[in-house]
Parts: sequence; C-alpha cells; structure tokens
Amino acid sequence: MSKLRVLYDCDNCPAYCCSYEHIEATPADVKRLARHFGLDEETARDRFTKPAPAGAPGRVLRHQKDVHFGTVCRFLDTETRHCTIYDARPRICRSYPGTGRCGFYDFLMSERRSQEDADYVPSFTRG
Ligand code: SF4
Ligand code: SF4
Repeated sequence: MSKLRVLYDCDNCPAYCCSYEHIEATPADVKRLARHFGLDEETARDRFTKPAPAGAPGRVLRHQKDVHFGTVCRFLDTETRHCTIYDARPRICRSYPGTGRCGFYDFLMSERRSQEDADYVPSFTRG
C-alpha cells in the first residue's frame, strides 16, 4: 500500500494549528482528558474547555497567552511548541490536516521565503 506523501513538517512549525480559536472538544474528548488527568468529567470539561465562540454549538479547548499568536491551546508547550497531552489529545488534533498538505505550513514557508529567513514566524495579536 502506498503511503500518503506529506508536504509539511510539524517540527519546522510553531504549531499554527494549535492557535486556531475553534479546536473542538467533544464529550468523548473530555472523557479522554478526564481519564488522562485522573479527574471527573465535569471538572475536566470546566477546566480544559469552554463554550464554542460566536454562538457555535459544542465546546472548544481553552487557550493560554502566546508570544507568536496572541493565544494558543492551553496544552501547547509554548517553548518547545509540542503538545503536552499528545496521547490524550482530541480527535480533531489527531486528524488534522487530513491531507498531504497543510495550509498553515504553506503560508509559513511562503512568508519565510519572502523574508529570506528560515526561522521567521509571522506574528498575530489576536486573543
Ligand atoms: S500547522 Fe500544520 S505543519 Fe504546523 S504543526 Fe499544525 S499540522 Fe503541523
Ligand atoms: S491538544 Fe495538543 S495538538 Fe491539540 S491543539 Fe492543543 S496542543 Fe495542539
């Protein structure tokens, strides 16, 4: 079976996808988080998630402050840019980007080429 060719490198990215405001946390995701942290589900839901923004249904992961993007998922290590709950991360994090390309990564590479700086991170101030 041929393996999907992947045109992005998460180790060369400051975790753009973890800055997304709407990172869905389903009841099954909350259950997994509760098990991971040894908490009851209600505590895990309240501590780690909040209602989805702009009146959207469901809940999303809470954020923390971040130097690059304003805010990022509370579970991102803002120094290493790695997920601190990798084995317990929500389903949406496991499936993203779902294809061989990552739009965030394409954007990052395009900006780095324009700036002629392989480490450049376009910064945002939202959040
Ligand atoms: S934005 Fe794309 S390249 Fe960056 S960490 Fe997420 S999936 Fe990987
Ligand atoms: S749970 Fe992990 S992979 Fe998912 S958004 Fe948060 S830091 Fe990123």
